[in-house]
Order: sequence, then structure tokens, then C-alpha cells
Amino acid sequence: MGHPKWRLKNLYEVSNMKCNECGGKMLKKVVDYIFLDENLGRFSAEVCSLCGEQVFEEGVIEKVTQNAKEKGLWNLGSSVKVSRIGNSMGIVVTKKLAQFLRLKPGETVTIYPENRHRIIVDIENK
Ligand SMILES: [Zn+2]
Repeated sequence: MGHPKWRLKNLYEVSNMKCNECGGKMLKKVVDYIFLDENLGRFSAEVCSLCGEQVFEEGVIEKVTQNAKEKGLWNLGSSVKVSRIGNSMGIVVTKKLAQFLRLKPGETVTIYPENRHRIIVDIENK
């Protein structure tokens, strides 16, 4: 399990921090910041050697937010009204979200409930 101690020393700087989630040892590493399957850049972070929890340095959130906005990944969620379509109901996918999902009119998707408060829409053609 894990790296031998001498390798840890060579690869990573061991920090004094303890993981807030599990109390594990935190290691300083450079990691990819992945958001919505997109890589928003490599940043310094302390990473828990046990559970993988990542704590980024100050200023990273601002940079990541900026990158996400530039890539059209920001604020993809929205509040929409349910409309009546015959005996069924329609929920609008905004232009922004459709572009992100590469969703085209006429495509077939699978929709099903996760529970009474959430639905899942699976897009097949990916
Ligand atoms: Zn941990």
C-alpha cells in the first residue's frame, strides 16, 4: 500500500496538515483541477494520502472560476418552469446547457427518477 518512505520523501514534501475528513497525512503535490470532466489547470494542493481529499492553496479557486467561465462551464444550472405538452410535461434545457452537453434537437435521451426529488437524463451519443 502506498509508496515506500524514501520515495515519498523524494516525490512529495510532507506537510504538517492533517486531513479534515479522515485525519490522514497531507502531502504537497501539483494536481489537475478537474471540473465537469474538463481540466482547468495544474495547481499546488495538499492531498490526503489516505482518502485523496484535496485542499488547494489560496487564489486557486479564483483562477479555476475564471477558467471555468472562459470555457463556458460556469452557471450551467438554471431555474426553469415545467410546461404542459399534451398529457406530458416539458422541462427546458437552456441554450448554454445544451451547448455544454452537445445536445441536438431530435436526439433520444433516457430519463428516469433517482428519487422523488431528482431526475437523471442520460445522453446516449457520447
Ligand atoms: Zn483523508
